[in-house]
Amino acid sequence: MSTQALVSDDLQKFPRCELARFPTPLQRFKNLEKSINSVELWVKRDDLIDFGYGGNKVRALEYIVADALKSGSKTLITGASAQSNHVRATAAAAAYLNLNCIAIYWGSPPKEVRGNYYLTRLLGAETRFTHDTDRSSVDTMIRLVEQELVQGGALPYSIPRGGACALGVIAHMHAAQELLEQCQDREINVDLVTLAVGSGGTIAGWVLARILYDHPWRIEGFTVSRPARELTDIVRNLVQQAAILLNVTLNINLDEVVIHDGYIGDGYGIPSIEGNETIKEVAVRQGVFFDPTYTGKAFAGFSDFMKKGHYGDIQTAVFLHTGGEPVLFV
Ligand SMILES: *Cc1c(COP(=O)(O)O)cnc(C)c1O
Repeated sequence: MSTQALVSDDLQKFPRCELARFPTPLQRFKNLEKSINSVELWVKRDDLIDFGYGGNKVRALEYIVADALKSGSKTLITGASAQSNHVRATAAAAAYLNLNCIAIYWGSPPKEVRGNYYLTRLLGAETRFTHDTDRSSVDTMIRLVEQELVQGGALPYSIPRGGACALGVIAHMHAAQELLEQCQDREINVDLVTLAVGSGGTIAGWVLARILYDHPWRIEGFTVSRPARELTDIVRNLVQQAAILLNVTLNINLDEVVIHDGYIGDGYGIPSIEGNETIKEVAVRQGVFFDPTYTGKAFAGFSDFMKKGHYGDIQTAVFLHTGGEPVLFV
């Protein structure tokens, strides 16, 4: 049996709670190609995942929530910023499965209830704020709320910020396998897959799939939150954890995880000038919406790399549209 068949079977053995239909579409964005040195540009539309306003977070939740149901839990606890796509998708999954959802946000309640915060409340999640601008205050409060519920006799299930955990990584490996099949069917030879990196779970899945299935492309991420060096360690760690879950031994090289700095702007969740210009250009030329926190900034980084000639050897690129459109309404 080849490694590929072995690992493919292994991927199937994790329980999945079906929330959406896959594969997501792979579309050519011809109208943008001129502005990126005429490379062939394809976009994998994970923004179109047909559940709870979509986005990459739904993929991970299918596996995480299946695990929560298996454990008999009735309450999901998670958190991030008030505009978190992950929290909104978790609230949607909880609503659909008749579970409670407690959303924990750093900082204080925003003046206006908009975007993902609006949707999360609409979905019936209970929302709490840490009143501390330090993002890690969310992790602390998740643990506290969990303890509180356990002491009250409940069985809560906590999901880390961004859904970045080994099960989530395995979910994103499926996305990479989808792309492989779509490219084989349509005879597309992809040189580069590029995407936004936040908590790191998504790129970890793509990297692990590339290593285990020998995918033909390289993968490069653009960070929208932490410095790339810090994220690289987090991603390598996530890759290792998922490999352990899959029962494969892995020696991940330093150069397997490529993440670029330079396009965060003034900070995570703060729109940047280049990001906003990108959103406008993609809307005007393609009729598609990117978002100000992730995809706008990441695509701005990718096109800048193109313009600066860093990708001279690339002929066909795929950009992963990971979603996030509700933030356009904030
Ligand atoms: C969370 C998110 C990302 C980044 O995914 P990570 O797994 O956190 O790195 C990218 N785009 C959107 C829209 C997201 O919500």
